[in-house]
Amino acid sequence: MIYQSVSRKSEASPIPLTRKAAYGAPQRTREVGGAGTACIRTFGCQMNVHDSDRMRRMIRDAGYAEVDAYEDADMVILNTCYVRENAVDRVRGHLGELVRLKREGRVKKVALTGCIGAAEESRELQDQYGIDLVLGTHNTYELAEFVGLPTMAETFTPELPGTEGETSAFITIMTGCNYQCSYCIVPSVRGRMICRPLENVVDEVERLVASGTSYVTLLGQTVDAWRDPSGDGKRFCDLLERVADVAPRVWFTTSHPSNMEDRTLRAIGEKPTIVTRLHLPVQSGSDRMLKIMHRGYKAERYRRKIEVFRENVPGGTLSTDIIVGHPGETERDHEETLKLVEDCGFDSAYVFKFSPRRGTEAAQMGEDVPPDLAQRRFMQVLRAIEQGAFERNQRKVGNEEEIYIRHGRAEGGKAIGETWSGHAVHVATSKATSVSPGDYVRARIESAGPHVLYAGEPIA
Ligand code: SF4
Repeated sequence: MIYQSVSRKSEASPIPLTRKAAYGAPQRTREVGGAGTACIRTFGCQMNVHDSDRMRRMIRDAGYAEVDAYEDADMVILNTCYVRENAVDRVRGHLGELVRLKREGRVKKVALTGCIGAAEESRELQDQYGIDLVLGTHNTYELAEFVGLPTMAETFTPELPGTEGETSAFITIMTGCNYQCSYCIVPSVRGRMICRPLENVVDEVERLVASGTSYVTLLGQTVDAWRDPSGDGKRFCDLLERVADVAPRVWFTTSHPSNMEDRTLRAIGEKPTIVTRLHLPVQSGSDRMLKIMHRGYKAERYRRKIEVFRENVPGGTLSTDIIVGHPGETERDHEETLKLVEDCGFDSAYVFKFSPRRGTEAAQMGEDVPPDLAQRRFMQVLRAIEQGAFERNQRKVGNEEEIYIRHGRAEGGKAIGETWSGHAVHVATSKATSVSPGDYVRARIESAGPHVLYAGEPIA
């Protein structure tokens, strides 16, 4: 699961840093032809980042030059997210500014795309702010005609590739979701699961690797539910193994415990190119809550999956998502979640305080958990995760690790990378030891916090 209200995020994000958009962050400027200028603003998760890449290809093909600032753009595309608290209000702020720029004759067209585009509120927003085009996540391809390209209906397939020539890349292997979790808006806005053919994915990986990509992340709402649409019986593990034979480094997110096969967990330990990090959202340690949430598994099944992972992937890292304060959650349910946290030994987690989403079952359930109680439970789960992660990270101090560099030099002169177990590491650099994205370096872990490891300068 990717779309949720983030109350607090671990620094050790399992999402590749080079392609991750901060909420509402401007995108890079690219130089292309003469149809005008366009600005794409991306909100939310990595699926949206990937959708923005699709739209970027369309505007480039149509001859637009991409710019960072609204005031420099003839056309603005807001690719929106519907999961944060006040998501619509935030977008209203941007739309208000765009109305002003339109009035001043600077911006000429505005398109609203993504999850808010697929939501009920989009009609009201279109009327109120005079938006020229509203698209949901299911009909992004209609942007093509809007920017003056011939019909591109055929390009709306999950296999429309991302951008080549970057050190790391997301590859969407499936879109949508067939689950109906009580709190989640994804099935309404993204639709049911559509899987991409295996050979098509592998072709894209080969192209990306040939263009210099050294790290691919297979992406989807429930990647481990992937099945080859040809009906030949191929499952996610088959796809992962094929990709791992082609790409120098592979990771995948997000998985669902009901779909996670033991052979996939074994493959993580066996294939040397697969990052040994498993992100497996559990959401609650209480069977009663898992049932209310419609998660489709019991806590014991989850624990067993983790045992298989630990047995087959020694030294691997484990992260999860947990929701606290879902309607109906009792103190006993909460205690069971704390127990599961203790038993599983997570290396990091996204802990979310329940926040209702209009259109979801949980928003209409009643039995709300009072905010102060939800806050107390949230802090207890967070502290339990952080304490366990801190203790485990301390044991890594003194180890020499091979580190994949994501950012050559970030703030404070540190490079940012990750170990083979997907653990975030800050690496000291100097002029003599400058490193670039995509490099591998060896360095000794000198200290550790609950989320991040800190390494000295690369060892020559
Ligand atoms: S419905 Fe459930 S499994 Fe599907 S994306 Fe939402 S939380 Fe994940």
